[in-house]
Amino acid sequence: MIIYGTCSKTIAGKKKYEGYNCPNCDNTQWETFGTMKYFDIYWIPIFLISRLAIIRCTNCKATFYEYDKKFPKEIAGQIKSSIFNLKNTIPKFTGLIIIASLIIWASIQSNIKDEKEYVYLENPMIGDFYVVKHRKALQNGGSEYRFRIMKVKSVSKDIVELIGSRCTYSMMIGPRDDIKSGKADNDNYYIDETINIQRSGLKQMKKIGTIYSVERQSENKDTKENFYLTKPMVNDFYIVNLSKMFKNVDSKCNYSIMRVRLVSKNAVELIISKIKYNLPTGSLKDIISGEANKDSYYTKKTIQILISGLIKLKEYGVICSVERQSEINN
Ligand SMILES: [Zn+2]
Repeated sequence: MIIYGTCSKTIAGKKKYEGYNCPNCDNTQWETFGTMKYFDIYWIPIFLISRLAIIRCTNCKATFYEYDKKFPKEIAGQIKSSIFNLKNTIPKFTGLIIIASLIIWASIQSNIKDEKEYVYLENPMIGDFYVVKHRKALQNGGSEYRFRIMKVKSVSKDIVELIGSRCTYSMMIGPRDDIKSGKADNDNYYIDETINIQRSGLKQMKKIGTIYSVERQSENKDTKENFYLTKPMVNDFYIVNLSKMFKNVDSKCNYSIMRVRLVSKNAVELIISKIKYNLPTGSLKDIISGEANKDSYYTKKTIQILISGLIKLKEYGVICSVERQSEINN
């Protein structure tokens, strides 16, 4: 239940007003007041409805509001400006200020998202999702908007190759959920046909609203991995590209696994796999199959690395990905 209503507040003026004869008692001395009426929700003033001047005879207490016939109209402005100031008026806009701040905040957030999406469209990556909006003709002659996912299948110098989802949705939330749940990762989710689009046209497609939003897969993984690297756990796997670390490593066969053996306050102790692969997926398969859980999979050597240095290793491309056991089992 929302509690709302109108509220009023009366402020006494400091100056007395003189020069108008009281219609009741002929007295010429008047006290002045100002009253504000405002709309509130949960007792937070949202906006001001009115501000009125009031005078009260010091003798007979006859009171006239600005809208009364007997109120001397010419002094209304003068009384109000002597009573109302920013200090006693602004707080009556509290709600409006809060609402305005929320709107501004939301629009800043959406601007940030927009800018990021334009950067993604300028630099498309395999696996990027574009939620696209298009009109679909209906049998009765009308049309409606449908949303579908287009996924970047390959990227060349000028062209991006896209595949489109089999299903379409009438609401934006449909494709979003499919991306979040991982459903959209699956190849079966898409039609076999591919569409080629000029890279240079992608931004324009967003401008006109055909591309409704852009989601980049790696982003979540990146945040999660950074978290894992700042809070390492025993048995975390790091798929590493050793040629980025050691110059004498053969750059053809350079992906191996490092497993966290010990974690102390500031450092981790790692063991390195005996087997190396051409591609990181080779190492990943060994992690998934459980092969990399065996101690015999590793050399006897250990390496100590400062926890604070792990993120740097990822930035330099030495650590290509981080896998945590509990996640693999799920
Ligand atoms: Zn009077």
